Amino acid sequence: MSANIIRLLPDHVANQIAAGEVVQRPASVVKELLENAVDAQSTSVKLIIKDAGKTLIQVVDNGVGMNETDARLCFERHATSKITRAEDLFNLHTKGFRGEALASIAAIAHVELKTKPEDAELGTHLVIEGSKVASQELAVLPKGTSILVKNLFYNIPARRNFLKSDKVEFRHVIDEFQRVALAHPNVAFEMFHNGSDVFQLPAGNLRKRIVGIMGNKLDEKLVPVHEQTEIAEIYGFVTKPEAARKTRGEQFLFVNDRFVKSAYLHHAIVAAYEGLLREGTHPAYYIYLNLPPNTIDINIHPTKTEIKFDDDSALYAIIRATVKHSLGQFSIAPVLDFNRNPELDTPYEMQGNASVKPTVEVDTNYNPFAEKSTSSFKPSRSIGGTAKPANWDTLYSNIPSSADEILSSGGHTVESELPSENLFSGQVSEEKQSNLVFQIHKKYIVSPIKSGMVIIDQRRAHQKILFERYMNIFQNKNSSSQQLLFPLQLYFSASEIIMLKEMQTHLSELGFVFEKIEQESIVISGVPVGISESEASIVLEDLLNDWQNDLPDDTEVLQEHLAKAMAQSLALKSGTVLSAEEQQNIVNSLFACPDPQVSPFGKPTYVIQNIEEIDKKFIL
Ligand code: ADP
Ligand code: MG
Repeated sequence: MSANIIRLLPDHVANQIAAGEVVQRPASVVKELLENAVDAQSTSVKLIIKDAGKTLIQVVDNGVGMNETDARLCFERHATSKITRAEDLFNLHTKGFRGEALASIAAIAHVELKTKPEDAELGTHLVIEGSKVASQELAVLPKGTSILVKNLFYNIPARRNFLKSDKVEFRHVIDEFQRVALAHPNVAFEMFHNGSDVFQLPAGNLRKRIVGIMGNKLDEKLVPVHEQTEIAEIYGFVTKPEAARKTRGEQFLFVNDRFVKSAYLHHAIVAAYEGLLREGTHPAYYIYLNLPPNTIDINIHPTKTEIKFDDDSALYAIIRATVKHSLGQFSIAPVLDFNRNPELDTPYEMQGNASVKPTVEVDTNYNPFAEKSTSSFKPSRSIGGTAKPANWDTLYSNIPSSADEILSSGGHTVESELPSENLFSGQVSEEKQSNLVFQIHKKYIVSPIKSGMVIIDQRRAHQKILFERYMNIFQNKNSSSQQLLFPLQLYFSASEIIMLKEMQTHLSELGFVFEKIEQESIVISGVPVGISESEASIVLEDLLNDWQNDLPDDTEVLQEHLAKAMAQSLALKSGTVLSAEEQQNIVNSLFACPDPQVSPFGKPTYVIQNIEEIDKKFIL
């Protein structure tokens, strides 16, 4: 008979395994500790972290505290004061209920707990290492609880190595902090990182809390939302459509004061903006739903951000209608007219100028029947000319003027199967090349070549040109900056400001000149050559967006991201009318790039239609 091989795991091993689910990173600890503090009815909560939480996370609250026995018990697995029966799961009013968090955290970090309930004389000071109590003593303490978590994953090197850079982990911590702080505006929150103050949020109303986190500038853009129906109460704020941004960051949905993710309800909110948003922009929202706890199930995900609703299609309809109503009430809808032709708008620099009567010169010698007019008549201002993007010419300085010149200079080796080396030679070059470009449908540039014709996607081509240009600037560190006439103040949320500070050196290399970086805004006095003043904020927003998506800390990779983001935001759009000269510039500059056939995003920049293929179409 074979021996028994099944054994019960020792508690500390079981806890470590459970910790794998509860604690993925410092931010998970932050979330659990903050939620415990809120559950303990605190009115003031302080979060202190070091090195993005990898070295130290401390949460200090003024809540109900724990007595000596509870202080020991709270580190046991399935130890909770929040539910006693399975039925309680359907009537939850607290954040926690699993009784797993503290046990898990204590299994993978050094933990120190100081706690005292209001009515006790003395409090308890407990030190725990690897799930084992290292010391316990009585201590003089204020009412409330302080939990200190040091050296996260000290005993699981694989997990510790798996952590991302401080920058990324810090970002996650801020996310969790914001979620809890936004869910509880009536509780004061503070946050400190490496000794400096990140957030100071006094208790107040929801609007104050949102503005406290996202910056004062947001205040005027908030539209209140409120509706009470039989199945749910919905309230909160959405932002005006014109405040929509390219970044998707600030979208918060709370159900019974718990941050949740629901793609379905997100869709309902965004659907309320139908027809009001510029393409590719996202509104910010802070929407709160209150529902009877027995009509939701938050238990389907261990980290509890996903949620199931009994009647989600009714909720969808209510949310969409409520948000739509609010947007309408604030007479936002009619302001935007998407069929408007922006070319007919008064350019910014001309606004406020008194209109000048056009002067008409009449050429009295003009004879319409003469063979060749000797007229000197010229309209005093050209009407309907194509709008030239700002600084267009500077984009193409130092660029050879014809494709032949480029190709003969042998500047770049083109590793393409496409015959780009001889693209423009042959018959075509005998004629005057510069005339042989045509723009079609305001998005493609077509030009005859030896083997047929080349069709260039103008936007992708321009992306490629800009990308190469910025990469060149980075690598040669010869970025130049253009001084702004008036320093430009741009507003960002506190967390964005922190990211901007981290990017500062790279951005300066690019040509941004930072005058001041403050709590909620930055002042720049110079921007990279080639960017206009109005484009500066778009570029920075795009960069922040990229930055949030876990950028590695490698300078070269970063440079590439910056160059891509700038190319992306600054490349001319499809739908832009180009003059013959501009078209020619695109063609020349594109073929001066290494690998001209692919855009920085890996898409084809041009296609070639062979003459044989064209011939074939005419055979029948
Ligand atoms: P849960 O929150 O799911 O109950 P935890 O492991 O997070 O599980 O906490 C265990 C218990 O410890 C809680 O139920 C609560 O009674 C107690 N506790 C934890 N943190 C605090 C705190 N900051 N103040 C008072 N009691 C706390
Ligand atoms: Mg908890």
